[in-house]
Amino acid sequence: MNIAIDGPGGSGKSLLARNIARKLGLIYVDTGALYRTVGLNACRHGIAMDDKAGIVASLEGITVELKYEDGEQHVYLCGEDVSGLIRSPEISMYASAVSSVPEVRAFLDGMQRSMVARGGVVMDGRDIGTVIMPDADVKIFLFASPKQRAERRYLELAEKGENVTLDEVLSDITKRDRADREREASPAVPADDAVMLDNSGFEPKDTFAAAIRIINGQLGTNYDDVL
Ligand code: C5P
Repeated sequence: MNIAIDGPGGSGKSLLARNIARKLGLIYVDTGALYRTVGLNACRHGIAMDDKAGIVASLEGITVELKYEDGEQHVYLCGEDVSGLIRSPEISMYASAVSSVPEVRAFLDGMQRSMVARGGVVMDGRDIGTVIMPDADVKIFLFASPKQRAERRYLELAEKGENVTLDEVLSDITKRDRADREREASPAVPADDAVMLDNSGFEPKDTFAAAIRIINGQLGTNYDDVL
């Protein structure tokens, strides 16, 4: 069984995908971490976010790998574990910028497809149901109001000690959503056969329960015991 979860930033995709993976015994793949890692590399090389040629050149000779340690996904850039470095607001914007470059998407494509081919994955991202796993058994497009998504992201960042305001987070999320949705390369839009799940006002457990109901409805399974 392969499950695709797409949606905008702060919708709670990662938490949902991680919970589904843990409860249903699947492997969780956070594909945003891959774009964030390419973004971190471009940032470290001082490449401007709108310098497409520079971004393409920055791919030369780098390696990006996913590894699982104690059940948690870690991402490595040229052998360095950068999992903790890719979550800042600056790298979020870099990730969005590099993700609109077709060469970057092509660079990360093979790795994602080979994980899908092994099977048993819950993958979250922006183009999973449309491009990476068009044949996924279940596709969920998770979203919430921009204000709620910004509030969730703000709390996450504040907890980590990032010095940001709610207004800055809202402005970044709005810009990033628009760029992700309107880009030509694999735009962040729901697949035609995705189930839309609006989790505005939901606690994570409500989102999880709603997703399990969707999975049961689509597959005819009965996973109610994991709730
Ligand atoms: O999901 P996350 O917020 O970590 O993703 C960071 C950025 O990576 C997104 O804003 C998007 O531009 C890009 N991304 C993408 N395709 C994916 C996953 C993420 O373009 N499958």
